[in-house]
Amino acid sequence: MRIAVLGAGVTGGVIARELASKGHEVVVYEASSEVGGLVASHEVGGTPLEIFYHHIFTHEHYVRDLIDDLGVGDKLEWLPSSVGILDADDHIWPFTSPRDLLTFGRIPVFDRLRMGVTSLLAPHLSDWRKLDDVPIEDWVRKLMGKRVLDEVWDPMLQVKWGEVREEVPAAWLWARLSQRQRSRDKKDMGELLGYMRGGFKQLYTALGDDLTRRGVKLMLNTPVRRLVCGSGGSHSIETAAGTETYDHVVSTLPVPVFARLADGLPEAYRRRVESIEYMSVICVILTLDRQVNPVYWLNVADRTIPFGAFIEHTNLLPTSDYGGHHVAYMGRYFAPPHYSDEAAALATGDLDEIAEQWLGHLVKINPEFDRSWVTSVAPFRTFYGAPVVKVGHGKRRLPFATPVDGVWLATMAQIYPDDRGQSEGVHLALDCVRAMNLPAA
Ligand SMILES: Cc1cc2nc3c(=O)[nH]c(=O)nc-3n(C[C@H](O)[C@H](O)[C@H](O)COP(=O)(O)OP(=O)(O)OC[C@H]3O[C@@H](n4cnc5c(N)ncnc54)[C@H](O)[C@@H]3O)c2cc1C
Repeated sequence: MRIAVLGAGVTGGVIARELASKGHEVVVYEASSEVGGLVASHEVGGTPLEIFYHHIFTHEHYVRDLIDDLGVGDKLEWLPSSVGILDADDHIWPFTSPRDLLTFGRIPVFDRLRMGVTSLLAPHLSDWRKLDDVPIEDWVRKLMGKRVLDEVWDPMLQVKWGEVREEVPAAWLWARLSQRQRSRDKKDMGELLGYMRGGFKQLYTALGDDLTRRGVKLMLNTPVRRLVCGSGGSHSIETAAGTETYDHVVSTLPVPVFARLADGLPEAYRRRVESIEYMSVICVILTLDRQVNPVYWLNVADRTIPFGAFIEHTNLLPTSDYGGHHVAYMGRYFAPPHYSDEAAALATGDLDEIAEQWLGHLVKINPEFDRSWVTSVAPFRTFYGAPVVKVGHGKRRLPFATPVDGVWLATMAQIYPDDRGQSEGVHLALDCVRAMNLPAA
């Protein structure tokens, strides 16, 4: 079979690898110049660093297996993480292990205990399917109380979901609680995070090399302009390089991009696909001549600060990996522009100006901070950072098979209730190839 895979992120890369291993003729179309999609890199001190912060959790065996399979397992290290919350009064509370909850003075002791116990038990006592129609806020209020919702969860949900947080289903939080329990060290309940020393770019370079070795044709710098879904099981892909036809096409593009490019989808299906929206993300990479704060991952609950998380990468990795520089991210998810003027401004605003404005707030994290500590600023934005999941998402989830015979979909929007990530991307890719059920060529 002749098969086109659209997109060379982790999902497209693994799909192409699996199909090639079954002997099919596979062509991958990728708009950018490299394999890896959202795990793209930018060099800091001569070392590739992800433009959007990335790490993996211990339980994420799909990506761990891929890393081992591709022969780059020696680069993966497990490093102790630390988490904190910067509260509305700019006080930093540690939140690394469940034990830290006992010292979280913003809520009464009873609420702390209630939150601790219910967070540990909830993933075991309820079934996520029953929580698909329940807004997170209702679930948390009932389970943990209003104070816990206002002081702990609402600020965290604001970081990840911004304006859409009231519509996100409890199933999503259920999966996060269950995931975090699986990744904790059983002895001290702390958390180890996995990072590839020298950057995840090494994984995607190895994946690209492996695809080439397996005979996959990798068409980088080749954005797809149009997919014409044929009725007789033959589909065309149009690019600047010309038009090619295929027996099967698998799209791993963000769903709105697929909807825009595909001609010949039945109208009802097109409307369903078009209803799926994505959260955008801005990440600003800072290099600094000193540490801002000792915490690796700081959730920012002070609403006067325009970014949602401050992630000091060199609190996880040594500065020597980055030419002696300290490296940190200021990150912010935001909803599609129609949700608010602020989201619209972030979608269209000049990135350098946004970064400069955000920098003015670092004194709230460290009162001694001075702009002169920053030696370089590199801002990045994507409009396809994560699919928006709203109550009932589980029932609206798109299957791999589209109504057009031979056209398949494998995208982040189908990962649920788990959060999307590299490991779930590998998992999704393997499930998609299984669903295609093509005989070996
Ligand atoms: C801020 C942020 C933080 C994250 N943190 C983590 C983390 O810590 N750990 C983790 O594991 N995951 C993390 N993720 C998630 C992870 O990056 C994604 O889940 C994963 O990379 C998705 O892979 P994908 O292949 O499904 O999609 P994508 O990576 O989006 O790949 C889609 C590909 O399609 C290409 N494309 C688009 N349009 C066209 C076109 N017209 N023609 C051809 N190609 C096209 C794109 O260039 C891209 O390469 C994070 C993501 C973000 C945004």
